[in-house]
Amino acid sequence: MKQVVIIGNGIAGITAARHIRKRSNYAITVISGESDHFYSRTALMYLYMGHMAYYNIKPYEDWFWPKNRIGLVRDWVTQVDTKHKKLRLQEKGEISYDILLIASGSHPRKGGWPGEEAPNVQGLYSLQDLERMEQQTKGIERGVVIGGGLIGVEMAEMLHSRNIAVSLVVREKEYWSNVLPPEEAAIISLHLRRQGIDLQLESELEEIIQDEKGNAKAVRLKGGKQVDCQFVGITIGVVPNISFLEGSGIETNRGILVDSCFRTNQPDVYAIGDCAEYHQPPAGRKSLEQIWYTGRIHGETVASTICGTPLTYKPGPWFNSAKFFDIEYQVYGEVPNLPKEDTETLFWQHLEHEQTIRIAWNKSSGAVKGFSLLGIRYRHEVCARWIKTSATIDSILPALGEANFDPEFHRRHEQEIRDLYEKQTGRTLATPVRKKFWKIFG
Ligand SMILES: Cc1cc2nc3c(=O)[nH]c(=O)nc-3n(C[C@H](O)[C@H](O)[C@H](O)COP(=O)(O)OP(=O)(O)OC[C@H]3O[C@@H](n4cnc5c(N)ncnc54)[C@H](O)[C@@H]3O)c2cc1C
Repeated sequence: MKQVVIIGNGIAGITAARHIRKRSNYAITVISGESDHFYSRTALMYLYMGHMAYYNIKPYEDWFWPKNRIGLVRDWVTQVDTKHKKLRLQEKGEISYDILLIASGSHPRKGGWPGEEAPNVQGLYSLQDLERMEQQTKGIERGVVIGGGLIGVEMAEMLHSRNIAVSLVVREKEYWSNVLPPEEAAIISLHLRRQGIDLQLESELEEIIQDEKGNAKAVRLKGGKQVDCQFVGITIGVVPNISFLEGSGIETNRGILVDSCFRTNQPDVYAIGDCAEYHQPPAGRKSLEQIWYTGRIHGETVASTICGTPLTYKPGPWFNSAKFFDIEYQVYGEVPNLPKEDTETLFWQHLEHEQTIRIAWNKSSGAVKGFSLLGIRYRHEVCARWIKTSATIDSILPALGEANFDPEFHRRHEQEIRDLYEKQTGRTLATPVRKKFWKIFG
């Protein structure tokens, strides 16, 4: 029987294990150093905030693994010998494989700043990071978070939930304005300030100042400003876990280089999830995709290839979601943060609430390219279908109710959105079917 060994029990490795089990009788072993069981990394913040306990964020009961004949080994892989198809573990000796799947994820990136090695300076990725943060933030008054991305705002919210004052240091003009268009970025920046976050925009860290015991006691920003604090969070991105592959012959760049079926340059060795880097990324995608839902698709796709039916990675339209304190964010497809020659966008904003809708389409064909939403949810399958089928903006605007979860919102605001489009473009939309119905029978 073939022995499949998977390094990493995150969303990518575990999805692959489940799908290999569905498709085959192979022996499956998952090795991971961080935890005994798979848990939802995206929910780490809720443990700190006291909204959930650890067992709440484990998607499967512990009996699931033996029942499905998925062996779990808690250890760190320190070496991969592709010639003899063997792995060396830190504590439990060696393990052989016929097929190796590397799903080792990533770790927080460091910035190389003086003072960064202080015990109360850290990133947030693993359960061990969370444990350290728990210890280092007990009873403190102020934390500084460096980096205006999604994990930065989560760390800010975590500290804030314990009444710890937070300074969030962001290099850009507005929070996440390297991704969000200016209007949305300004709304989120204002929202963060309203929550009491000291948002330091267009600021960069220069140095972490330590006390005589080596603990961080302040940060100095470029320009000389100093902020006193007892904790520093560094959230400037993540780096793939690949150092244990040194000498293995597996080709790496920033991550583990893979083809469109997640094959590495070594026979029977695959890589997926945060640690994988595409030789040739799918159209419109970056070469590294370090998010949850793509890890899941990677796992499902590679399982098919490993079980004998090679499958090319076809991720469909881009999707991501996040929460900035109370504001939910969703993006489907491609919505540029800055004007693009071939793209037109419609931006609607609620007059009183923090709710916005932005729809992007191709200027010449009218084909819809993306939706970006704050404070409102749209149906994933509807948006993905419209984008995949190149539905035109003129055809989807009268049908927006299909995408909306909230019929009340639909009744109140969708006419406004259509009016805005007609005003902006000078075009006249077809009357929605519902309206026609009322004209006949109303
Ligand atoms: C705080 C936080 C919030 C996030 N929120 C979101 C979100 O809202 N939406 C979203 O899309 N994404 C989010 N992400 C990103 C998302 O969680 C990751 O993209 C995803 O978990 C990566 O999955 P993975 O399976 O590739 O790797 P991982 O989940 O990192 O799993 C890999 C595992 O392998 C282990 N490992 C590594 N090297 C070895 C080794 N040598 N030996 C043994 N074990 C090893 C690691 O310790 C780890 O447990 C968030 C990430 C963090 C940290």
